[in-house]
Amino acid sequence: MARIVMKFGGTSMAGTERIRRVASIVRRQQAAGHEVAVVVSAMAGETDRLVNFCREANPLYDPAEYDVVVASGEQVTSGLLALTLQAMGCKARSWLGWQMPIHTVEAHAKARVTAIDSDALVASMQAGEIAVIPGFQGLSADNRITTLGRGGSDTSAVAVAAAIGADRCDIYTDVDGVYTTDPRIVSRARKLNHVTYEEMLELASVGAKVLQTRSVSLAMKENVRVQVLSSFIGDDAVPADELPGTMIVSDEEMEGLDMERQLVTGIALDKNEAKLILTRVPDRPGAVSTIFAPLADASINVDMIIQNVGRDKGETDVTFTVPLADLARAQALLEDKRDEIGFNRIITDSDVAKISVVGVGMKSHAGVAATMFKALADRGINIQAISTSEIKVSVLIEEAETELAVRVLHTAYGLDAEDEAA
Ligand code: ASP
Ligand code: MG
Repeated sequence: MARIVMKFGGTSMAGTERIRRVASIVRRQQAAGHEVAVVVSAMAGETDRLVNFCREANPLYDPAEYDVVVASGEQVTSGLLALTLQAMGCKARSWLGWQMPIHTVEAHAKARVTAIDSDALVASMQAGEIAVIPGFQGLSADNRITTLGRGGSDTSAVAVAAAIGADRCDIYTDVDGVYTTDPRIVSRARKLNHVTYEEMLELASVGAKVLQTRSVSLAMKENVRVQVLSSFIGDDAVPADELPGTMIVSDEEMEGLDMERQLVTGIALDKNEAKLILTRVPDRPGAVSTIFAPLADASINVDMIIQNVGRDKGETDVTFTVPLADLARAQALLEDKRDEIGFNRIITDSDVAKISVVGVGMKSHAGVAATMFKALADRGINIQAISTSEIKVSVLIEEAETELAVRVLHTAYGLDAEDEAA
């Protein structure tokens, strides 16, 4: 017997029929002899709809009331799943965020879980009841509903798994695992049987949309075993216990599985960045700080940064990227500080994409970046900015060249599946 947390995303929960399929997957997992807690998302599209209502009601909405509204989507699906399970003859009940409770900090719309009171939950699971928990929501110290940020149900699932000491946290979604890259772009993309926490963290943060980034760092910190797998399966599908999806594992565990280790594990793309160039910034100590301090104060995340070599007149250009959604705000903030910073012009470009190659293998191997640059150069793709970490190399390119770049790199690193019919 094991204790399992199962998480189902919005596409899996969209409508009665799909909830019925989810219920039968859950029932099968319980019938295998496990204690089961289920964490659910709102139906696909529901959270967006609720966010829109908030905007319509009051463009400057109070985040605490926003949370009251948007948390409701998960309340609906958790109740519906409990009802569906009961209709199948299972014992099941819902546990809302405030009922357990799932304690969070007070930061509305981007709360962090601080603790989960799980004694009653565990007792009910031990008594054979399936616990159905709405993801995304929690309770603040001042007794108000909070939400964990978009995509936060993944984090709820991992937090619950950590709190109840689950043997595994299965994240059911509309794909059957984590791929070497987006299979819609590269038909020869391969499903990975294993990926390390670190790699998954990098992949999630640079555009692979399978998991909320925060859920991955939490899983890594709490050592939660996470599997990504498909909920769109029939009754004859390989049981989750046989690990049909992608397991996210520690570095040590991966060492033992060295067989499948590649230099590069995956290639991610992100079209949600924008580039800014500040021209003729004074080339003196402190200049760069006058640019980035106001952005940091406004919680705008700067990603890639390039400062060109100074010109004769003691001036330089500074290029950097921010999330596309923050471009207008960043530009306005910098215009405000024009005199203090002393630049000449701001040039912006939102038609850019960031392509990242990720792999723990590159820690111990040279040449990964060189391979990337050469493969792109051979196709005439111009690199506008570069950033690296220990296990990642990212380049900024023209957005129109995204698909080509991903395909070329997938081949260059030997990631293409072999026997795909051409
Ligand atoms: N329903 C929430 C959202 O769309 C949380 C989630 O599904 O993970 O962001
Ligand atoms: Mg999600």
